[in-house]
Amino acid sequence: MSAATASSYLPSRLAPSIEAWSGLTTFLEKGAGAALDLAIRLWLAQIFFVSGMLKTVNWDVTVFLYTNEHPVPGLDPATAALIGTGIELLCPVFLVFGIATRFAAIPMLLTAAFLQFTYKELADHLFWMALLGFLILRGPGALSLDYFIAPHLERSAIPFGHSLCRIAAFLARFLLPPFTLAVRIWLAWLLWSVAFRAGPAAWQAAGFVLCVLLALGLATRPAALVLAGMSMFMPADIVHLGDPMLRFFMLASFVLHGAGTLSFDALLFLKARHLCPSLTGDLRWLEGAPRVVIVGAGFGGIAAAYKLRHAWANVTLIDQRNYHLFQPLLYQVATATLSPADIAVPIRAMLRGQQNCRVLMGQVTGAAPEQREVLVGNTRLPYDYLVLATGARHSYFGKDAWEAFAPGLKKVEDATAMRGRILAAFEKAEACDDGEERRRLLTFVLVGAGPTGVELAGAIAELARQGLREEFRTIDPSAARVILVQSGPLILPAFPNALSLAAMRSLTDLGVEVLTQARVVGIDADGVQIGDKRIEARTVLWTAGVMASPAGKWIEAERDNAGRIIVGPDLAVPGTTDIFAIGDTAACKGEDGKLLPGLAAVAKQQGAYIAKQIRARIERRRPPGPFRYHNYGSMATIGRKAAVADLQFVRLSGSLAWWLWGLVHVALLVDLRSRIAVVFDWFWSYLTYNRSMRLITGGESRAD
Ligand SMILES: Cc1cc2nc3c(=O)[nH]c(=O)nc-3n(C[C@H](O)[C@H](O)[C@H](O)COP(=O)(O)OP(=O)(O)OC[C@H]3O[C@@H](n4cnc5c(N)ncnc54)[C@H](O)[C@@H]3O)c2cc1C
Repeated sequence: MSAATASSYLPSRLAPSIEAWSGLTTFLEKGAGAALDLAIRLWLAQIFFVSGMLKTVNWDVTVFLYTNEHPVPGLDPATAALIGTGIELLCPVFLVFGIATRFAAIPMLLTAAFLQFTYKELADHLFWMALLGFLILRGPGALSLDYFIAPHLERSAIPFGHSLCRIAAFLARFLLPPFTLAVRIWLAWLLWSVAFRAGPAAWQAAGFVLCVLLALGLATRPAALVLAGMSMFMPADIVHLGDPMLRFFMLASFVLHGAGTLSFDALLFLKARHLCPSLTGDLRWLEGAPRVVIVGAGFGGIAAAYKLRHAWANVTLIDQRNYHLFQPLLYQVATATLSPADIAVPIRAMLRGQQNCRVLMGQVTGAAPEQREVLVGNTRLPYDYLVLATGARHSYFGKDAWEAFAPGLKKVEDATAMRGRILAAFEKAEACDDGEERRRLLTFVLVGAGPTGVELAGAIAELARQGLREEFRTIDPSAARVILVQSGPLILPAFPNALSLAAMRSLTDLGVEVLTQARVVGIDADGVQIGDKRIEARTVLWTAGVMASPAGKWIEAERDNAGRIIVGPDLAVPGTTDIFAIGDTAACKGEDGKLLPGLAAVAKQQGAYIAKQIRARIERRRPPGPFRYHNYGSMATIGRKAAVADLQFVRLSGSLAWWLWGLVHVALLVDLRSRIAVVFDWFWSYLTYNRSMRLITGGESRAD
């Protein structure tokens, strides 16, 4: 089918708003909702745990309470005190980690109910019961161990695993909706009767409307949000309103998780979904839809595929690997801080929920634009729209022979090989009797002082000075030389001069020798030649130029010196209407007329833009204007306590920039598992200097 005749499906005018709302609610529920669930668990855990601790240290008073204040029928006071205190001390631990959360929450809920109905009627007890009830029926959320275990429990050897899964599904399906409805009505009634009814007229009217909306489950999220804001102005000492924090958690839970299925919101959303077929899960609407083929599942390709999730398009995403790689942290794999799995996520898993996208693993070897086909080996894959997002590879500026002696860093295999090479150099030096050779083995030269070179140099210096301390007997790893070579006058040339100089100082503090205005003229197995100066080194790493993928050759498009396809302002390949190039494989000018740099942010924004372009063409809408890159800044880190960050409006260096760098990189990682793993590995290596990934695997060592 040709793209021009493809448009037989035209979405409703309301579709974009419904899609945006659906995206927002998904984010609120899965992202912010998970953080809220964790906060609720921690808060409840500390309440119960502190109470348990107080009871333990005042055991006589505890037994007195169970004897006179709230005796447990059928149990002698000492036993009841022991059980009650045990629940308060043990169950919170499970809640904190989110393991067996439902089991831990049940005795806690019973304790709260027991106190409420046999001891003191308090709004706090009711809030505890409501929040614990949600934990039992809905589960502990994505930031919990249960969340990771649950998908595998059903088919595991854990006793009753299958039954537990079925019970959890039953609770969520049949008990959660009426429970949520009951809590909404109770909360609306509580707020109205205690906080609003006696207030001034305007306060009363606003409170009434909001409480009715909450009870009905109509516009629940905005209503609960406003109520949460208003609740900050409610007096903190009204006992019947309960602890302000618990009240806030309850309302925030409705903001993030919504009103549940027994609500007008759910009814309206059900109706709205029919205007937006991509939300119905019915794949028949995709019959006859245009075929969009995206080659490359890097930052650009993934962004494009993801942004096309609601489009009337059959998307095929092809990559030669089965995983998406977060290249900015590759150097940490090369220096044994992170494991490859921390920064690589299976592409299929990322697009699991996207019904209109098929993922194929295969290496594209060419394209036939006249036939509108992509060649994957002997297979021909037809397309209506083609997006080339195949990235870049190393470039040795025409000196390809250097590659054998100075490997670059682009793939996971490069990083593990580099790790093996660096670690093997220390191992060989330890076993070496020849002083000259030992010096050669302990000299590391990095050619190119862009962000990768700077980050790698800092990390190798730290590994040598701290990470390997006291582990060798013959050599002193801290005596290793790390030399960073830059042909220009400054390192990090894309950064403002002040930050380049700050980075240079930080590197020098770490013991890195920085050679500027030093052009490498030769690299061989024994070292590097810089002008007439020779540096003997067994490990030379290439962190200089890159060259675009050969995608431009496939379609015989015009290319720049780095092999990038010169694209138009709409990222289309000139002379075509259905082929686009994005990311590192495209040469695109920014507003200042200069070519945009090869950055993840550029690729991502271009991927999102191109999805809009293609969708507008499919739906015969006015296409967006020319692509504009929004530069939110760039960063580079130097070791474990310094970084530089150019955020346009402010320039930072030192430890503040380092913290910012860490936060941004964790946030940008694709999935939650990677974020947790990376934070844990960083935390561990930060505190202990221990590099847990110090494995030399395969035939990666060359220092032989
Ligand atoms: C070590 C390193 C550190 C970096 N640090 C930063 C940083 O700190 N900040 C920053 O913004 N940027 C950084 N970058 C640059 C950034 O990673 C790139 O700009 C970005 O990845 C470009 O995205 P892309 O989608 O164009 O290509 P890529 O992310 O490279 O993805 C290209 C994809 O295409 C696939 N592919 C290639 N050829 C074929 C084929 N023939 N058939 C099928 N699939 C194919 C590849 O397998 C890959 O998955 C770094 C890059 C490296 C290498």
